[in-house]
Amino acid sequence: MTVNQSKWHDAAKAHRFVGKSLIGGKLVDAQSGKTFGTINPATGQVLTEVASLDVADVDAAVRSARAAFESGSWSRRAPAERKKILQRFAELMHEHAEELALLETLDMGKPISDALSVDVPGSANTISWYAEAVDKLYDEIAPTPDNVLAMITREPLGVVAAVVPWNFPLLMASWKLGPALAAGNSVILKPAEQSPLSAVRLGQLALEAGIPEGVLNVVTGFGETAGKALGLHMDVDAVTFTGSTQVGKFFLGYSAQSNMKRIALECGGKTPHIVMADCGNLDEAATAAAFGIFFNQGEVCNAGSRLLVQESIKDEFIEKVIAVGKTLEPGDPLDPSIKLGAIVTEEQMNRVLGYIGIGKEEGARLIAGGQRVRTESGGYFVEPTVFDDVKNDMRIAQEEIFGPVLATITFKDPEDAVRIANDSIYGLAAAVWTDNINTALNTARRLRAGSVWVNNFDESNVTVPFGGYKQSGIGRDKSLHAIEKYTELKTTWIKLR
Ligand code: NAD
Repeated sequence: MTVNQSKWHDAAKAHRFVGKSLIGGKLVDAQSGKTFGTINPATGQVLTEVASLDVADVDAAVRSARAAFESGSWSRRAPAERKKILQRFAELMHEHAEELALLETLDMGKPISDALSVDVPGSANTISWYAEAVDKLYDEIAPTPDNVLAMITREPLGVVAAVVPWNFPLLMASWKLGPALAAGNSVILKPAEQSPLSAVRLGQLALEAGIPEGVLNVVTGFGETAGKALGLHMDVDAVTFTGSTQVGKFFLGYSAQSNMKRIALECGGKTPHIVMADCGNLDEAATAAAFGIFFNQGEVCNAGSRLLVQESIKDEFIEKVIAVGKTLEPGDPLDPSIKLGAIVTEEQMNRVLGYIGIGKEEGARLIAGGQRVRTESGGYFVEPTVFDDVKNDMRIAQEEIFGPVLATITFKDPEDAVRIANDSIYGLAAAVWTDNINTALNTARRLRAGSVWVNNFDESNVTVPFGGYKQSGIGRDKSLHAIEKYTELKTTWIKLR
């Protein structure tokens, strides 16, 4: 073990986990006393027991959030004051970067170097960006006739439930918390049952920063219990969700069955990564293609899981991708030198291995990886895996695997590439590599996706909206556009005498 690696293992051993929820500023157990074990996917061992909340607890969280909202302690506070507190919140996240990164890595298996360089700073920067924005937003006066005044104002929605997944627990939470809190809402954050630890710590830091009690509650528990209770609650005004398309649809149903709460969805993807023969830098594109699918063990909603390569360069290009993939062997997530960690749970690993089996049965050619590795660790590791000769109607090209599995498909010309790329129920993102400006722009325009990358993959910044076409979602996270979904638009008519 290297010195750096031991440092993290020592920190993990010394850490005192908080296995509770946070309601009304207090750490609480479930009223039923029920708990569930959260597992370290790198070892298969239970890290700690965590409170498993159900309908009655969720109701308590909603009542606390509503009371905080009605009190005006946050919702009616001057934007400049909310700004200062949110800035302090972001600073505290930076100050606790190592602790938050450790929790993220232990709970969901990502490399500690990524947690430190991507997840924690990205989350803190999201909060501070919305903090900075909040006292610079103006409302509108309508161009009405002279004898009336119509003011168009934005008001916070009230109680917002943020239900998030396990692949970027802090970052996905921050994409919701930043705009929702900046706009003056009370928020109930429900982390995924696979990765609850960093969310509770985040809630504690929010309190320490001065966000009033009840404005940010964190409820731990299962989707089918705590998540569903939020979806069906009559006093939750909106759910902002990131997760699978299947569960996203459940939330639309919960809304229909209850109070027509607003539903914003960031769901799955099957991103086409298109490489045209006239791409001027195949090495750069190959590195991007490999990282595009293997980063975060492939557990990325916009992972470039379909590699579309023009026929004439396919063999040369795929060799380059495999060469990069070989440098990304999975390792101990607490070793700062590794780039690929563990798959989040045994169930998810088996799902990924299942899809590798399906790919072989469907007639795709396995040309790299395909195996579970590091079994002796007790953890859930899968090699970077590449399939060739994939047809776009195969299940491995149509269904979201959410693991380090790349499906390579060839195309004849740009038109063919666009047709294959768009032949998917998803439309979260797409990428195209070409040195021809006309091909680049014509292709980008015709791709049905919320983000299109030209000669790069996964450029990302809080300043731009992120979200999907088709069954990849409804609405956008990030940028000032996100604030729209956390506010109601009100028109106030004033008759002038
Ligand atoms: P998931 O849909 O299983 O769970 C997401 C959240 O929903 C969790 O908090 C879970 O507890 C809750 N949930 C699960 N079942 C529920 C139910 N029946 N009722 C109410 N709540 C329920 O997703 P996951 O496995 O945690 O995450 C992976 C998915 O997230 C992938 O599909 C991925 O593409 C998607 N994702 C999308 C984005 C994006 O921005 N579009 C970002 C990250 C992840």
